[in-house]
Amino acid sequence: MSAAPTVCPRCAHDGIEHVHSSPVPGVWEVLQCGRCLYMWRTSEPARRTDRDAYPAGFRMTAEDIAAATEVPAVPPLRPTA
Ligand SMILES: [Zn+2]
Repeated sequence: MSAAPTVCPRCAHDGIEHVHSSPVPGVWEVLQCGRCLYMWRTSEPARRTDRDAYPAGFRMTAEDIAAATEVPAVPPLRPTA
């Protein structure tokens, strides 16, 4: 297992909180970013746990978060035939 990250993989914020530990101690930890709320388990691949390996298209900055539009509403159900 790699060392605990120091910044959020998605937004590079340094406020990472420990959420949960594996039932068998030392196997994995669940961490969450205090800014963008991204949550991950330390045993996931680097593309989910490491800022440098996180896909560029999904990375966020503080500006991205501030300018984010609200979550789109769920459209009404289509009528059944
Ligand atoms: Zn974040």
